[in-house]
Amino acid sequence: VPELKIKDLHVSVEGKSIVKGFDLTIKGGEIHALMGPNGTGKSTVASAIMGHPKYQVTGGSALLEGANLLDMAVDERARAGMFLAMQYPSEVSGVTNAEFLRTAINGRRGEGNEIPLMKFLKTLDKKMDMLEMDQKFAERYVNEGFSGGEKKRNEILQLMMLEPKFAILDEIDSGLDIDALKWVAKGVNSMRSENFGCLIITHYQRLLNYIKPDVVHVMMNGRIVKTGGPELALQLEAEGYDGMKAELGIKD
Ligand code: ADP
Ligand code: MG
Ligand code: MG
Repeated sequence: VPELKIKDLHVSVEGKSIVKGFDLTIKGGEIHALMGPNGTGKSTVASAIMGHPKYQVTGGSALLEGANLLDMAVDERARAGMFLAMQYPSEVSGVTNAEFLRTAINGRRGEGNEIPLMKFLKTLDKKMDMLEMDQKFAERYVNEGFSGGEKKRNEILQLMMLEPKFAILDEIDSGLDIDALKWVAKGVNSMRSENFGCLIITHYQRLLNYIKPDVVHVMMNGRIVKTGGPELALQLEAEGYDGMKAELGIKD
């Protein structure tokens, strides 16, 4: 079973310390939710693990099956089995969704082990059907002119096609209506297996009605301050982050 172990992670952005001792271990088969108020550093954790150049790691490690992701080049992290669905997915003009996916899959599989075209097309067809995506999206440029909901659905298609060992989904639910939310959940739930672990970053409990997390973490001021089961998300929904701060004796 794969394991992702983040230990004592410290991250700075533009010289300012944002993440201050973040610890989290996810095993294959588990879905964890990371919740917390805006500006607390959730996206910064995700960006640092994926190697975004703006985010400077000043301490700690992120071990994927024993190898430190933080020592790897960005593309190596993806090849090692990490996937990040970003809060704001970017557009890739001039590259179709199908081309993009095939290149990414082959990048992971390595030279000499490319996915046969027919197998790729069949898989793509099946996964798009599952997400009720129109086939025309295969031939459209990546995310170009996609609505917010279509971009999020496309992120889930990428996730299902790439079959990473671990995924970090950053506010995949933001701005989604209830139907889109259900497609996202359906896609993520279809990935559930011993060989896949997932971290869902969200402000709201709503998505967690559809994707049942095994573990819920609350992050404040750059670190995890509380960990529990799904009931923790319900408690947050009821009491708000201020209620949680009061309970934990956190000021500001
Ligand atoms: P969250 O995802 O929990 O809402 P973020 O990780 O996005 O929080 O942001 C944490 C803090 O880091 C905020 O104060 C934010 O302004 C700052 N920050 C994050 N990314 C950048 C960036 N690229 N440039 C400048 N400041 C940033
Ligand atoms: Mg935010
Ligand atoms: Mg964020």
